[in-house]
Amino acid sequence: MKAGTVYLVGAGPGDIGLVTLRAQELMRRCDTLVYDYLINSALCDWCRPDCELICVGKSPGRHSIEQEAIEEILIDRAKKGKEVVRLKGGDPFVFGRGGEEACRLAQAGIHFEIVPGITAACAAAAYTAIPLTHREYSSSVCFLTGHEDTDKHVFHVDFRRFAKTGDTLCIYMGMGRLERIIEELIAGGYGLRTPVAVVQWASLPQQQSLYATLGTVVRKVEERQLGPPAIIIIGPVARYGKSVSWFEKRRLFGRRIVVTRSLDQMDELSGKLRGLGTEVLELPLIETDPVVDSEAFDDVFEEIAVYEWVVFTSVNGVRYFFEKFFQRFKDIRCLGPMRIACVGPGTARAVEAYGLEVDSVPDRALSEALADSLIANVSLDNTKVLVVSGNLNRDILVDKLETEGRAIVDTMEVYRTRNTNLANDPVAQDFKERGADAIIFTSSSAVKSYVAQSKLLKLGSSALKPLTCSIGPLTSETMRQLGVAVDIEAREHSLDGIVKALKQKFSKRRR
Ligand code: SAH
Repeated sequence: MKAGTVYLVGAGPGDIGLVTLRAQELMRRCDTLVYDYLINSALCDWCRPDCELICVGKSPGRHSIEQEAIEEILIDRAKKGKEVVRLKGGDPFVFGRGGEEACRLAQAGIHFEIVPGITAACAAAAYTAIPLTHREYSSSVCFLTGHEDTDKHVFHVDFRRFAKTGDTLCIYMGMGRLERIIEELIAGGYGLRTPVAVVQWASLPQQQSLYATLGTVVRKVEERQLGPPAIIIIGPVARYGKSVSWFEKRRLFGRRIVVTRSLDQMDELSGKLRGLGTEVLELPLIETDPVVDSEAFDDVFEEIAVYEWVVFTSVNGVRYFFEKFFQRFKDIRCLGPMRIACVGPGTARAVEAYGLEVDSVPDRALSEALADSLIANVSLDNTKVLVVSGNLNRDILVDKLETEGRAIVDTMEVYRTRNTNLANDPVAQDFKERGADAIIFTSSSAVKSYVAQSKLLKLGSSALKPLTCSIGPLTSETMRQLGVAVDIEAREHSLDGIVKALKQKFSKRRR
């Protein structure tokens, strides 16, 4: 059997946007993922469902045995022909023991590759706007470990030596020994007023930064109760962060917000919220399954060219429709001369992605408004209309088109919506324990699933109680009917509308 390859991959400091494309590509296709405890667990979602996930959460002081065991796992899987990703926080070759693993693999004759990552010091610097080098203040940088040799109780690094160099110092793993490190630096000749920044959880929504001097940092860290993982930046450049910060100033920084759309629709809303500094909890309350009724589809496709209008009521509808369409036809022109109507801008964008222009989108993203605007603006009398949708929320639309527009309507149900079972979902667990600042509902079906699973999602006594946020009147109505209060309702019924409403709400309620 051909042996597999081991990839030693850097995962960056935590924000998944800071993972390289190469790392993502390898994670998507690997057979085994071996990862550390500081890795953002959302990364595991990139792996194939049948990928073997092995967490080798190392705790300090128990390195040597575990390190060997990890190397054995890598070698064992590679010998079995597996493609293995060994994922490490930051960069694998900066305090990551990547060197040892690479040597061991080489000795064992296993083929390996190395993918660098953004190391914590660079992330801490960027996400606090502290330049590690500066033409006036610092021409060199040093990455140091504050880790002690636990047997001998001495530092691996002689901190006193650095007082004269003028380097910007970036200390990893230093929080447990902060006081002794600072004492050493001062004993080496550093002034008490030398600027220091401490950055915990750099690049993540829970990032905290603290600005002090060598004389005050120990006290301030105690007051703020900062701990690992953190980078300590020392030198004149460290004073910059306070005045020019950007990351912690973003409008929804540090907020925990639950997104409840189905998994395949979450990316857009989550991305928008993350961009504003939110910690997003993706709780997929509903799932969609494609309908597999090929006879019904055959009937529609047989006559596809006779429809004057095709109406799409959701992004999912577009996606499943074109999947089916291209299983049957090779060429987009087989759609014929039809015109296209979409319920809202998101659905229209999904259609436009196929190079098709959308002829009609109502002002408000509601199926009622879609029917009204078609009836008002075009003559539907006796024309053939195809409504492509899921199993929900299409009756009003079809009814209006038929009775008020006198159209001849065929429906094509391309997917069905069902509740997701959240019993073993880690995000659901996290939500129950810690709660959130807000929970967003973008459809009535998500609200129904939430209420159906309310026992399972019951918050613990110390959890933060979320404000409830609805995308628009229809969802709000379902919420009220089912006894869920509506704290925030988006004025524009779109994802951007939701984001706007949340920004308004939370800028008034700074923590
Ligand atoms: N290979 C990693 C470092 C691993 S050592 C890298 O290149 O970044 C672990 C130390 O990294 C932690 O003790 C802490 O000092 C630092 N660290 C890792 N992630 C961090 C983060 N998001 N914010 C601040 N420090 C971090």
